[in-house]
Amino acid sequence: MQATITYLLTEQAQRAQMVATGQPVARRQVAIVEVSPEDFPLLDVADDGTLFLDLSDTASMDVADSLDVLSKIREEQAAAEAAKIAAQTKKLQEQAAAEAAKIAAKNKKLQQQADAAAAEEAKRIADDVKDKAKSDFIAAWIAQHADDQTREQFAEGLLSRAAALTLIADDLFSSHGIIPNADVPDTCRDSDCPCCDSSVETLPRRIYPRWRELKGKLPEGSTVRFSKVRECLRDEERYDDGETAGPVYYTANLTVPCGGLFQFECRVKLG
Ligand SMILES: [Zn+2]
Repeated sequence: MQATITYLLTEQAQRAQMVATGQPVARRQVAIVEVSPEDFPLLDVADDGTLFLDLSDTASMDVADSLDVLSKIREEQAAAEAAKIAAQTKKLQEQAAAEAAKIAAKNKKLQQQADAAAAEEAKRIADDVKDKAKSDFIAAWIAQHADDQTREQFAEGLLSRAAALTLIADDLFSSHGIIPNADVPDTCRDSDCPCCDSSVETLPRRIYPRWRELKGKLPEGSTVRFSKVRECLRDEERYDDGETAGPVYYTANLTVPCGGLFQFECRVKLG
């Protein structure tokens, strides 16, 4: 079958044909071309059933004859189809990637939740084990060291853990000859008052022998921090010569380990 194709030449193509023929060449061209059924979708059908394609209202074509016009349209159609498929493929790939990322994020979150739950459970078990060991230690200590009355109180469940630990700490300190004879001192926040409870890195020479003696008694693993202390006298109004703080003394603030389960703290006045 044939089709009538109307198209516009570019000015450049127009000139080229004029050079070749030596005749005026119209911008608007009409060509009768042979077409096959696969071209039908590209063409319009007139009332009388003839096929045509009117490209005269579109951009000028940079082609010299009507056959090229048809092949160019075919190429454009094929390119448009390929671009459409490429766009669809890209969209599908993006959707698949987004879905995969979503699933990965969800899996990661589930894994994190599972890890957190496992860690919490492991900690709970470890805490339970440690707490059981502490309870066992206290029970064994009470059985071995407490007096009859305390053992009875403990057996009846009427001895608090804090009270039991106080007994154990007192026993630990006295068994090592440690005498906790200093409390956290009263101090105020008034910058005019010379009261203090300050950490110090060094000790006066006259104090060192006291520490040296105490150091020799401490069980292994004990740690110490030293304080320089002046107690505040303001609340008690014990001052009369303008000094609102007591005399300077030093304390060894001890942390003493017990049975690998407990740490007991106390202060010892060094002088
Ligand atoms: Zn003060």
